Amino acid sequence: MIIGAGFGGLRATHALAGAPVTVHLLDRNNYHTFLPLLYQVAAAGWSRA
Ligand SMILES: Cc1cc2nc3c(=O)[nH]c(=O)nc-3n(C[C@H](O)[C@H](O)[C@H](O)COP(=O)(O)OP(=O)(O)OC[C@H]3O[C@@H](n4cnc5c(N)ncnc54)[C@H](O)[C@@H]3O)c2cc1C
Repeated sequence: MIIGAGFGGLRATHALAGAPVTVHLLDRNNYHTFLPLLYQVAAAGWSRA
C-alpha cells in the first residue's frame, strides 16, 4: 500500500511494476498536482502555444 500519489508515490509505484506484489496507490485526490509548474501557471507564465 502506497499512500500519496505525489512524485514519491508515483516513483515507488513505477519501481514496483513487474514485481511479484500487488500494489495499491492511495491518494486523497483523483489527480496529480504537478507542483514544480504551479507558480508558473498561477503567474500566467505559460502560454497555450
Ligand atoms: C511551487 C513548488 C515548486 C516546486 N518546484 C520544484 C522543482 O522545480 N524541482 C524539484 O525538484 N522540486 C520542486 N518542488 C518540490 C517537489 O514538488 C516536492 O519535493 C515533491 O513534490 C515531494 O514529493 P512527495 O511525493 O514527497 O510529496 P507530494 O508530491 O506533495 O505528494 C504527496 C501526495 O500525498 C497526498 N496526500 C497527502 N495527505 C494525504 C492523506 N492523508 N491521504 C491520502 N493522500 C494524501 C497528496 O494529495 C499528494 O498527492 C516544488 C514544490 C512546490 C510547492
